[in-house]
Amino acid sequence: MSIRNIITEPNKLLRQISKSVDGVGKEEQKLMDDMLETMYAANGIGLAAIQVGVPKRIIVMDISKNENKKEPRYFVNPVIKNKDPLNATYEEGCLSVPDQFAEIDRPSKCEVEYLDYDGNKKFLKAEGLLATCIQHEMDHLEGILFIDYLSKLKRSMIIKKLSKLKSSSAEA
Ligand code: ZN
Repeated sequence: MSIRNIITEPNKLLRQISKSVDGVGKEEQKLMDDMLETMYAANGIGLAAIQVGVPKRIIVMDISKNENKKEPRYFVNPVIKNKDPLNATYEEGCLSVPDQFAEIDRPSKCEVEYLDYDGNKKFLKAEGLLATCIQHEMDHLEGILFIDYLSKLKRSMIIKKLSKLKSSSAEA
């Protein structure tokens, strides 16, 4: 396993639509291993492949927040089958939008069909943080970031801040 570089906004790659994979093979498993290690190292709870520059419909997640009892989840080619009409609000952040947080409304429950780490077809009914996290990560596959749900003003302020951060770290 190796830690990969996480791409941060603003970056056109993050706006790319990811492609489905034909199945889960050694290459996809290696990618998922790397993504999981990268996510843990960055203290994140979810990561989409595009965030490490790979435009494949692959997501890793662990919402357990427990060092001693890790609960990794893998979603390959995930498709949302059903969304609850009722919304829930969570404060969201994103490893590609460092140090920025905002309250976002999303359907409180969702049902998702996907392939797991071994390529088996799975179906999951998610609610709470898990439902929010799945929807946040699936947005990445469409090139959507959580800041896109904010007002134009708020979003441009955040992007300005991140651009500044990038140019100052490039000078260092
Ligand atoms: Zn994210």
